[in-house]
Amino acid sequence: MTITASGDDELSNEGSRGSNTPSGAGDGERSEVGLRGSNAPSGAGNRGFEPSMRAAALIEALPYIEQFRGAIIVVKFGGNAMVDPDLSRTFAEDIVLLRSVGLKPVVVHGGGPQIGELLGRLGKESEFRNGLRVTDAETLDVARMVLVGKVGRDIVGAINVHGAYAVGLSGEDGGLIRATPRDPELGFVGDVAAVNPNIVERLLAEEMIPVISTIGSDGSGQAYNINADTVAGALAGALRAEKAVYLTDVPGLLADVDDPESIIGQSTVRELNALIEDGTIAGGMIPKVGACIHAVESGANAAHMLDGRVRHVLLLELFTDAGIGTKITLGDPT
Ligand code: ADP
Ligand code: MG
Repeated sequence: MTITASGDDELSNEGSRGSNTPSGAGDGERSEVGLRGSNAPSGAGNRGFEPSMRAAALIEALPYIEQFRGAIIVVKFGGNAMVDPDLSRTFAEDIVLLRSVGLKPVVVHGGGPQIGELLGRLGKESEFRNGLRVTDAETLDVARMVLVGKVGRDIVGAINVHGAYAVGLSGEDGGLIRATPRDPELGFVGDVAAVNPNIVERLLAEEMIPVISTIGSDGSGQAYNINADTVAGALAGALRAEKAVYLTDVPGLLADVDDPESIIGQSTVRELNALIEDGTIAGGMIPKVGACIHAVESGANAAHMLDGRVRHVLLLELFTDAGIGTKITLGDPT
C-alpha cells in the first residue's frame, strides 16, 4: 500500500497563515462549561453563564459520551492552533477530557512552520520542487529533531499538566510507520508504505494518550519525513478509528476558498474526488482530503475537518448537537 499525497505540511502551511485571524473565541465559553471542577484551568472562569445553561450543555453531551465511549479518535493537530499557546492549552484540555469520559484519543502532529523556522535560523536554504521541500540528510535531521524533540515534547507536556497520560512516539518507534520514498528527487520525503498500530494499541489499552511525530523509517532504518495529514489518515484506518479529526486553519472544506461562509458540511468520497478534479480543492487541502478519503476507505467510520482556531472545537464537534466543520463519510459505493 502506498499512500500518495500531493502536498506537504511544511510547504502548504507557508503563505496560508493570517488570512483569517482566529475568530472563534465566542464558541469557547460554552464548551468550557464541561471543564469546571476542582482542577478548572485558570482561563475557565465564570463568564456569566446561567447555571441552567451549564447544566444543559452537560446534558447535551451525555448521549454523545455514551455513543463514543471506548471509541478511538485520531486527531491531527497542526497549523495556527499549534503555535498559539492559548489554543495549545485548550487543545490539551480537550484531549484530556476525551480520555476522562472514556474515549481513546490519539494525537498526530505536524510542524512544518517550526521546521522552516529552525532551518532559517541555521541559515540552511531549502530548494523546492513542485512546491515540495527537497529534504537532504541535513534537512531530515532538522525535521526529525524539531518534530520528535520539540513539537511532540511540547504537546506531551501540555497534556501531562493534567496527569501522567501522554506518551510521545516517533513513527519509527515499534515499527509504527513504514516509509517509502515519495520521489528520489525530493530526498527523504516519505509516503506511508504500511502502518503497524500495535504500539499505539498497547498504549491505548493502558489508557495512555499516544502523541505521534510523523517520521517513518524504511526497512533499512533510514528515516523519512512524512506529511502529518497522510499519517493521521493511515493510522485512523489501521486502528479502525471512529473518527479521524483534522484541526486546520479554515472553517472546513470550502466551496470557495476565499469565502469562509461557503463551508461544505458533509461530503462523500465520490463528491470529494470530483472537487479535486475540478480544482476546488487545492494546496494543503489536497493531502488533507486525500488522507480523509484514505481513512474512511481503510476502516475509519468518518473524518472531520474542523477550525483549529476555535477554542474547544473538538468538544463542540464531538459532544454537542451543532455539526461544525466538514464531515466526510464513505458514502454509497461507486
Ligand atoms: P494544515 O496546517 O491544517 O495542514 P494547510 O495549509 O496544509 O494547513 O491546508 C489548509 C489550507 O488549504 C487552507 O488554509 C487553504 O488555504 C487551503 N485550501 C485550498 N483549497 C481549499 C478548500 N477548497 N477549502 C478549504 N481550504 C482550502
Ligand atoms: Mg497541511
